[in-house]
Amino acid sequence: MEGENETMTRIDRRKFIGAGLAGATVMWPLGHAFALTDSLSDLGGSIVSPPQATIYTAREIITLDPSRPVAKAVAVVNGRILWVGSLEEVVRILGDQPHSVDTTFADHVIVPGFVAQHDHPVLAALTMSSEILAIEDWVLPYGTARAVRDKQDFMDRLTQAVNKRSDPDEPVLSWGYHPAFYGPLTREELDSISAKRPILVWARSCHEMILNSATLRRGGVTEAVVDSFGATAKAQSNFDEGRFWEQGLFAVLPHIASMVATPERLRAGLELTRDYMHAKGITIGNEPGGILAKSVQDGVNVVFSSPDMPFRWSFIVDAKSIVAKYADDAQVVAESEKLASWYGGMTSLAPKQAKLFADGAIYSQLMQVRAPYLDGHEGEWMMDKKLFERAFHIYWDAGYQIHVHVNGDAGLDRVLDTLEVNLRRNPRYDHRTILMHFAVSAPDQVDRIKTLGAIVSGNPYYVTALADQYARVGLGPERADAMVRLGDLTRAGISWSLHSDMPMAPGDPLFLMWCAVNRVTPSGRVPGPHQRVSAEEALRGVTIEAAYSLKLEEQIGTIVPGKRANLTILEDNPLTVDPMSIKDVKVWGTVMEGRVLPTGQATSKASLEQPRDGRDKQETEFEHAALRHALNVAHTHL
Ligand SMILES: [Zn+2]
Ligand SMILES: [Zn+2]
Repeated sequence: MEGENETMTRIDRRKFIGAGLAGATVMWPLGHAFALTDSLSDLGGSIVSPPQATIYTAREIITLDPSRPVAKAVAVVNGRILWVGSLEEVVRILGDQPHSVDTTFADHVIVPGFVAQHDHPVLAALTMSSEILAIEDWVLPYGTARAVRDKQDFMDRLTQAVNKRSDPDEPVLSWGYHPAFYGPLTREELDSISAKRPILVWARSCHEMILNSATLRRGGVTEAVVDSFGATAKAQSNFDEGRFWEQGLFAVLPHIASMVATPERLRAGLELTRDYMHAKGITIGNEPGGILAKSVQDGVNVVFSSPDMPFRWSFIVDAKSIVAKYADDAQVVAESEKLASWYGGMTSLAPKQAKLFADGAIYSQLMQVRAPYLDGHEGEWMMDKKLFERAFHIYWDAGYQIHVHVNGDAGLDRVLDTLEVNLRRNPRYDHRTILMHFAVSAPDQVDRIKTLGAIVSGNPYYVTALADQYARVGLGPERADAMVRLGDLTRAGISWSLHSDMPMAPGDPLFLMWCAVNRVTPSGRVPGPHQRVSAEEALRGVTIEAAYSLKLEEQIGTIVPGKRANLTILEDNPLTVDPMSIKDVKVWGTVMEGRVLPTGQATSKASLEQPRDGRDKQETEFEHAALRHALNVAHTHL
């Protein structure tokens, strides 16, 4: 460990916590980055002649531009696309403009740069930097974390992970355990792996942790401490079994944050998340529901705002939290807009966009449904009706695009009702209200979505991961099999995109395409076959339609003259391979605003060794805020 990995020193940690945007060394405004890479002689030349162009040739270029769907060459100038066509045509158009032909991609297929419509970097960082022992494979830059087969497999692999560590005091955090798949897990079983070293097992849902005795000791969690929790938190804790879930997990958070969300773990995790997403061909991304703890955002900026970032990242205002905080409507908007100053360099606040929440999470089956759940349990609202309506009204009148997290058909009714009221009251052109996740819906709602001018961002992994189980439990086959009804949306002419919500699903656009095109579950079943979509529609869902949903369709999403030169370079054509192989198409790398960025630069897992030189109040607050943000994301999503 020591030597091959760098451990953050105390000074590094303080920089990570306190640096904010100053930590991102150079702030390059969009479009100016490339001037810095030109040599002086190039700059001299540019005064008298047009700038140097680079022509990339490829086996095939899929432009997603209906007027020129395929091409063989693309010319790039100053990070933008100048022309697309055959090589001869592009050379002819360039005429006497200085240019070079780059054949690096001659055997590859170029598609528009992938757009990560909706992911959660802090939660992804904390889970990805742990020992991943989950229900699915995670293909990471340093290797693949294979899906866990059963309880024994989990215990064996956790034991190996514990034993390979040199420092006997370093806590081991694992993520991905799923009691519904592997059965219950207790403190005693974790103690059998190690009685001395802290072991923390974070469930796949992120709603529960199982802690061994060494963790409880280090965190000062005694039976008396648990007894002092509030009634709900106490009811959602089991000291003997070392289990803490929901409010119990929030209550134990201050005791364990230093073993989970340290600045070094967050930084290493963010770097890993960055490399992971780049390896999946992502050229731009977005988190709806930005971080509201400035110290945590500053930490994220150290990695994500840096000019080295292989993709830009935007954040959407967490309007649910802001509207709950301020009674004055004008202040809600003013506070939302103030957040723009928290970002810079490669990060930004998505302009005039706000995130609201309707009903509960899909993974814990807390969405609001029209017909009751088969087992009689009830869904949850993430925002009270009054607060939701007030928030919608405020942001609607301020001209915002509103992104609404919604999972059930009754949740969708509430969102569409609210949208209709506001449209009637104050008609708006191209409001592009976005229905996010879109798990359970009813056929009659499709027409209404179209009529009201809303668009959809669906998570197609819900079908892959959950349709079999939900057909048996809670929803029944009819509702479970029609989840994320993308086929109906296509036939109705509604714009839809795909998102992974990482770490809710692997943040891998080709995998999302595979889910949407095949809708095949682990049992081999195809739920709702008529909701499958074509490979080209799925590709649009991770490029131009995702761009459209973020109001970036004039900048990115297709390969046409004038747009940013954002390209994803693939080893094969995802539109012509066997549909079951789409997820296996290899990513060579990306071109991001003209920068050629091959994947595979990451060499090893970043160090997660714990610091030994103590910590101060600022660090402790940082750790609490980071973990709290992660748990809040998990609480609304899983
Ligand atoms: Zn959500
Ligand atoms: Zn989300």
